[in-house]
Amino acid sequence: MKTKKYSCIFFDLDRTLWDFDTNTSEALHDIIDKYCLLPAVMSLEKFAEAYKMHNEILWHEYREGRLHKEVLLWKRFRLTLEHFGIFDLKLSKKIGVDFLGLSQMKNKLLPYTHEVLAYLKKKYPLYIITNGFEEVQFTKIENCDLSQYFNKVITSEAAGVQKPDPAIFEHALQEANADPSESLMIGDDLEVDIKGARNAGIDQVYVNSDKKSHNEIVTFEIHSLLELKRIL
Ligand SMILES: [Mg+2]
Repeated sequence: MKTKKYSCIFFDLDRTLWDFDTNTSEALHDIIDKYCLLPAVMSLEKFAEAYKMHNEILWHEYREGRLHKEVLLWKRFRLTLEHFGIFDLKLSKKIGVDFLGLSQMKNKLLPYTHEVLAYLKKKYPLYIITNGFEEVQFTKIENCDLSQYFNKVITSEAAGVQKPDPAIFEHALQEANADPSESLMIGDDLEVDIKGARNAGIDQVYVNSDKKSHNEIVTFEIHSLLELKRIL
């Protein structure tokens, strides 16, 4: 059964369409190879685990405006390397630049991304709202051949505010000339995408690929993008 009529669909990018975890892991593998970091960092899994932990903490600081983007880019590697007893600021900065270049060229997508976007594009205007860095997000979208589906990509850098701030959703609604009551936000992050959209009066689809348990009330919850064809 189809649900209420929406006139505008907003998508998050990372972990909703772009397979952030696989792509990050591949780029970290390249970094380990290039800088001969084994056996110092033990394994790709251990290195990726430490990176993920530090990256998430630093992203949180960046989102709250407590950390500058340029610092985040190298500091996440300084802390990751220090985790394995490697204290080398110069190396951290080199890896920070390299990683950014490598990761944005990776092109793994969540299953059914193209199939579902092709289906939705025929029925709705589609937009991306992403907190990622402007130049990086556009490179990813181009590399994955995703721009054909979207009317516009709204980045937090261009909007001047990040999700979950309602201002970025209001900015996106204006760009799309859409009413919140007829709009739908599709994303993987309960705090950033789902609560953010809800606070802006927008219905939400929580893309819960890992079937994580939670207590949030969401308009829709899916485990695979393919389920969107049932809802929309
Ligand atoms: Mg995401």
